[in-house]
Amino acid sequence: MMNKIQSIRGMHDILPDRTPLWRWLEARLAEVFASYDFHEIRLPIVEKAEVFTRAIGQATDVVEKEMYAFEDRNGDLLALRPEGTAAVVRSAIQHGLLNTPGLKVWYQGPMFRHERPQKGRQRQFHQFGAEIFGLDAAAVDAELIALGQRIWRELGLTDRIRLEINTLGDRDDRERYRQRLVDYLRPHADQLDEDSRRRLETNPLRIFDSKHEQTRGIMADAPLLADELGEEARVHFAEVRELLDGLGIEYTVNTGLVRGLDYYCRTVFEWVTEDLGAQGTVCAGGRYNDLVAMQGGKDTPGIGFALGVERLLALLDAAGVERDQKPQVFIVSQVAATDTLKMAEFLRDRLPGLRLGAALGGGSMRSQFKRADRSGARWCLVLGEREHAEGQVALKDLRAEGGEQQTMPIDQLPDFLATALAGEVDD
Ligand code: ATP
Ligand code: MG
Repeated sequence: MMNKIQSIRGMHDILPDRTPLWRWLEARLAEVFASYDFHEIRLPIVEKAEVFTRAIGQATDVVEKEMYAFEDRNGDLLALRPEGTAAVVRSAIQHGLLNTPGLKVWYQGPMFRHERPQKGRQRQFHQFGAEIFGLDAAAVDAELIALGQRIWRELGLTDRIRLEINTLGDRDDRERYRQRLVDYLRPHADQLDEDSRRRLETNPLRIFDSKHEQTRGIMADAPLLADELGEEARVHFAEVRELLDGLGIEYTVNTGLVRGLDYYCRTVFEWVTEDLGAQGTVCAGGRYNDLVAMQGGKDTPGIGFALGVERLLALLDAAGVERDQKPQVFIVSQVAATDTLKMAEFLRDRLPGLRLGAALGGGSMRSQFKRADRSGARWCLVLGEREHAEGQVALKDLRAEGGEQQTMPIDQLPDFLATALAGEVDD
């Protein structure tokens, strides 16, 4: 026998037993985005690598270690997108979408990062993201956070997710602070882990992200960006907090929250859970007022977030949320295949949206009834030879004890089924 080809490590199939939950979640998210006047944008999965190296920053994990970059046959350096924001910005500039302020877009789809696969961490994973351009009012930050809150509420996850926020100040604030942080850390350099020692030169703020215990101990006493904030960034953050308070959205200020990508400024936030172990950030985002200009557009503020669909699904699993998609009616038949098919098409015509299966290929009635049972359908439509010749069919409720059949004329069947199925809740 030939050996079996396997999928790529960290890139998973989403099998039919899971897709109903995915589709349900995707539909809920699309509804929430629409209710905040966001519009969907669909972008290529492959971009010029430069879209990400310029935006995300060279000295970040995503670009330095995780990006799937490759030369195509023309020698152009391309990348499988590791995230959405930089590509949304590329597209918005290219198509002049930023000319009117207040553009609100959302996207979804697979993202690719070459990191060590583990629970909550794949190499192909999926994100939903939202971005708002051209507005830098604190109310915009607050509305975006309120949108997140509404998603968790819609999904029944409010008790499992909490909000952390911080401010990264403006560019000058960060420059000043970076210098103070480096001055503080330099004398401790030989006690830092290797990654952090390297970051001391390239991207010292990211040392806050280190999981290394000794490094964390040193960072606990580090000077705070909060003490270096300029007036504008300080007022902005105070306004955001006030608006969140006004909306009754609970949060904690986490001064160690720095986010992994270089383009963030001012408000940053993460929605985190304790239910998923180490990979507890479900949704993360922040402001990026310099990004559009960095990507070659006119100076335009922006803010957005991305949520990890797999982590959100894991939370839904933990909360016991299930979705399946069984047929509602399943046909077993003793009559000719042409009559079985005609009956099925007749019902699909008359009952749009009906999920209908049939034991095509025949076999004994016993084995056909077994297939009907396994399908999970409630109603089994029995096309018996004698009844069918008389224009009659039998319908059996597979969930009823004893499973009695009722016989009825074919032309009454659609109405009967319409009434019987109306009581079923269906998302
Ligand atoms: P982490 O600290 O977990 O690596 P990140 O800061 O790299 O996250 P972002 O780039 O902000 O993550 O992506 C937003 C969200 O996308 C994350 O909060 C997470 O839910 C999800 N995500 C990121 N990387 C992965 C991955 N490799 N596998 C699954 N989900 C991911
Ligand atoms: Mg990461």
